[in-house]
Amino acid sequence: MTPSWKSPREGAWAVAEAETRYGPQVALVIVDLQNDFADPSGSLSVRGGAAIVPLVNVEIERALAAGSAVAYTQDWHPAHTPHFAQDGGMWPVHCVGETWGAQLHPDLSVRGPVVRKGIHGEDGYSGFSMRNPSGGMSVPTELDSTLAQGGVRRLVVCGLATDYCVKATALDGVRLGYETAVLLAAVRAVDLKAGDGEAALDGLAAAGVILVGAREAAS
Ligand SMILES: [Zn+2]
Repeated sequence: MTPSWKSPREGAWAVAEAETRYGPQVALVIVDLQNDFADPSGSLSVRGGAAIVPLVNVEIERALAAGSAVAYTQDWHPAHTPHFAQDGGMWPVHCVGETWGAQLHPDLSVRGPVVRKGIHGEDGYSGFSMRNPSGGMSVPTELDSTLAQGGVRRLVVCGLATDYCVKATALDGVRLGYETAVLLAAVRAVDLKAGDGEAALDGLAAAGVILVGAREAAS
């Protein structure tokens, strides 16, 4: 039975019991749950990143049991890209294609398509779009077309990191017309500056993203 809700914006589909969160029109999108972000020895390790993997696996089982699609994003860079500090960007070298750091966390259950971003040196954070390093033009990944083909209307987003790729992916989800929810217990922030993660959640809420769970769960 469809849960009763007054308007999509109120997001009751997402915040009701976890068992009612998923269905055929919902996709669970797992952002960048890769060694360089999730493992404590990763080059861009996010505090608490590995701790969300078991929670994400539970969500994957719930989603699949309810007929939802499950999709993964994977940061996948060449050895040199304007995304990296050594090449003029802002990040330490991370998630270089074919390296351990780029691999999805070994404990993560992989049960759906994996969408790679940055393969050709693109910059940007969203699972849906990348920025061409020359000219800054936005180029789509195949995530939107993959989900749209499956009739997906709603997204449940989790993974790493709250203040970059989770935020950008969820904002793009709203922009593309998906009702979008973020699972606070299954995201963690880089917090380059203290409070970045909190500010990201504020921005997501202001954009109409449904925040599922307690704010404290996201830190
Ligand atoms: Zn990256």
